[in-house]
Amino acid sequence: MSVPSFPRPVPCDCTTFLAALDAVVDGEADALAVARAEVHAQACAPCAARLAGARAYRRRLRHAGDAERAPSELREAVLAAMRGMHGSRTR
Ligand SMILES: [Zn+2]
Repeated sequence: MSVPSFPRPVPCDCTTFLAALDAVVDGEADALAVARAEVHAQACAPCAARLAGARAYRRRLRHAGDAERAPSELREAVLAAMRGMHGSRTR
């Protein structure tokens, strides 16, 4: 049997990639798993799109998290508005 002539064999298949995808975009995967995912994404267009999409999604979630930590004035105003909405009904 001859050695395959591929210059860079795909180091993991799509199933492995997808299983690691969440951890990779969350920054919870180890460096090796991230590297394997990156290399696979370079060799596999659908997975490259999934990786880009998942990262964009995470970025949006992180922005939503920032909004939660809004200045306390804004938070108070929102809470007061919500209380006002419910207050007239519950009393
Ligand atoms: Zn793939």
